[in-house]
Amino acid sequence: MTMQYPSLAEAEARDAADPLHSWRDRFVLPDGLVYLDGNSLGALPRHTAETMRDATERQWGEGLIRSWNDADWIGAPRRVGDKIAQLIRAASGEVIVCDSVTVNLYKLMMAILAARPGQGRTILTESGNFPTDLHVAAGVAAQHGLVLDAAPREAIMERIGPETALIVLTHVHYKTGERFDMASIQALADAQGVPLIWDLSHSIGAVPLDMGADAARFAVGCGYKYLNGGPGAPGFLYVAAEALEFLGSPIQGWMGHAAPFAMTDAYAPAPGIERFLAGTPPMLSLLALEAGVDLMLEADGDLLWAKSQALFDFLAQQMAARCPQLVPITPVRADLRGSHASFAHPSAWPINRALIDAGVIGDFRSPDVLRLGLTPLYLGFADLWHAVDRLAAILEDGRWQRSEYSAPTRVT
Ligand SMILES: *Cc1c(COP(=O)(O)O)cnc(C)c1O
Repeated sequence: MTMQYPSLAEAEARDAADPLHSWRDRFVLPDGLVYLDGNSLGALPRHTAETMRDATERQWGEGLIRSWNDADWIGAPRRVGDKIAQLIRAASGEVIVCDSVTVNLYKLMMAILAARPGQGRTILTESGNFPTDLHVAAGVAAQHGLVLDAAPREAIMERIGPETALIVLTHVHYKTGERFDMASIQALADAQGVPLIWDLSHSIGAVPLDMGADAARFAVGCGYKYLNGGPGAPGFLYVAAEALEFLGSPIQGWMGHAAPFAMTDAYAPAPGIERFLAGTPPMLSLLALEAGVDLMLEADGDLLWAKSQALFDFLAQQMAARCPQLVPITPVRADLRGSHASFAHPSAWPINRALIDAGVIGDFRSPDVLRLGLTPLYLGFADLWHAVDRLAAILEDGRWQRSEYSAPTRVT
């Protein structure tokens, strides 16, 4: 008995009816390739290449150092931060773009703990959280004489209590795609008076976010995933205005100074979110990120999330019918997940390698997960149809068992 699944013609009909379909032309994507890894490195927006030409040839080449003012390089971390604030429904002046997610997480954790000395004994996070989040939390805990409490997802809520000094949670899990209910966990943390930092790396540009409505006060997030900011794009840091005045960056750099160009010996923090800047911003990367953020701002967020859900359902139906050996591990309910779909298989690693050779780029996550990113701006239903068709062929002819796919040549 074969299960019903949509035909290629049906997939193409859905693409033709998709109000976001034409957005694909605004990205550079190789012909014939199905890119399902935009949740790890977003695709290149066409106009980013132009932005970069202007940033290099005109702003840097001709403007030289004058461009710090003439092209407002100096204002870029805050300018792009204000744009990201719109995407997460924060206010202007609550988001700054700088450093990596890792460094921003460190700065924010240290700043919050320094502002609340002696309160609580543990740093609570999820076991199996993204490694950098766990590593930073462990390091910060050691520096403050606290205990790292990495609890399973189901136990997080009950672990929040008077012993908790700080909570760090990744909103959408990088591997399984599970999503925490931000509003209810934030409310619980607030009821106990415990600060909570959200890592939005797999959420921003993927799922609806509303810092104001959910009363979230602290967050960090990634620029090179769904924001299509380019490899190594800087991350961002969000602090609600009400909390900002109590916090100081543990890295007292000159760019976070109230008057960087007064060149004074004594440090005085900038009055606003700029205080979380450390050193000179990576201007070319920042301008590439701005191009990606501009594109995301232009797109209709409701349409994006609706399409993400439609893509997920389409993929789930195809996979169940054609690749039942791969076990879906991402929640089916849309409000409980992000915008990627993960499947478990003991041989996920070689299957993923064979899939890449067949022109479908997803990714493998240790130990047994095949992760497929669903980016509604540049992915269509026919793309997914072809991806599953190629995956089904790989499973059927067993080519993933060939020796060329057997030994990991890299661990990613
Ligand atoms: C991608 C990701 C990061 C990336 O951190 P970098 O410092 O930018 O390398 C951090 N945390 C989570 C949850 C991520 O998904």
